[in-house]
Amino acid sequence: MAKISVIGLGNMGVPMAGNLVKQGHEVAGFDLVATNMGQAASRGVTGRKSAADAATDVDIVVTMLPAGKHVLEVYGAGMLKAAKPGTLFIDSSTIDVASARGAHKLAGDAKMLSLDAPVSGGVGGAEAATLTFMCGGSKDAFEKAKPILEAMGKKVVHCGDAGAGQAAKICNNMILGISMIGVSEAFVLAEKLGLSHQALFDVASTASGQCWSLTSYCPVPGPVPASPANNNYKPGFASALMLKDLKLAQEAAAAAGATTPMGAAAAQLYGLHNAWGEGGTDFSGIIHLIRGKSQ
Ligand code: NAD
Repeated sequence: MAKISVIGLGNMGVPMAGNLVKQGHEVAGFDLVATNMGQAASRGVTGRKSAADAATDVDIVVTMLPAGKHVLEVYGAGMLKAAKPGTLFIDSSTIDVASARGAHKLAGDAKMLSLDAPVSGGVGGAEAATLTFMCGGSKDAFEKAKPILEAMGKKVVHCGDAGAGQAAKICNNMILGISMIGVSEAFVLAEKLGLSHQALFDVASTASGQCWSLTSYCPVPGPVPASPANNNYKPGFASALMLKDLKLAQEAAAAAGATTPMGAAAAQLYGLHNAWGEGGTDFSGIIHLIRGKSQ
């Protein structure tokens, strides 16, 4: 069993750390917010005084933080100095590709192993240990991380070198944001044409319009009972997080010289959805913006 620290004990970090405890690992953690430390303690996580303290005398450090600047801040704030050489640093936050590569460089310069390993699956997946991890980094780092990630998820994919996990995450979520808007537009058009939601679903779900946003996460109540549309659009995956990922995709596209007009349009529409006060609702609630009516 490994000695592991988790830095960032928020909505995702607490259940992820709890699953590591359940698998018999010795788990410590740190968060800036005392109540979050309390939540983690109730799942068997030992509190530490700082990120640097948490990185002392452990085999693996997992970070689960809001953005790239927080990851670079904790990597730079003594964690790498405090850790023993060869410690594996896994960053599971969703951050920009440039910061992810910066974090790998800091870790490599300090003679540490490192992996970017963002997740999909949300809080539900974190609780149920069914997350998908998309990993970027060396083969050695990946092999060492794999059994630990498998304690928190059901699928662990090595996508390539430093930053490849973050690249996979934002490319996937760009598809998701665009496809949810497309599916929402189709349902709103169907409403105007007098076609029932169920009839459109029955045809499109088995025809060429089929996609995950339709068949697993349908943005209207009825056809897919488990979709957030049936639960008053409670997330799920909040619109604010979708906007964050679409902005990261746009930043990456600009830096790499890629043309992503649909991704840009999706980022703008989710920006409006958030400005409408809907950032806390599920991202499938974008259908209300398309319809021009809040629910
Ligand atoms: P969250 O805001 O609930 O948790 C982040 C935690 O980091 C907070 O508790 C905050 O206090 C802590 N923190 C910030 N700066 C810190 C520092 N310097 N040292 C220690 N702790 C610090 O966010 P979350 O929902 O848990 O998401 C974490 C990451 O996972 C984000 O990058 C997010 O985009 C990604 N993610 C979230 C979801 C989701 O559904 N919530 C899904 C996939 C990916």
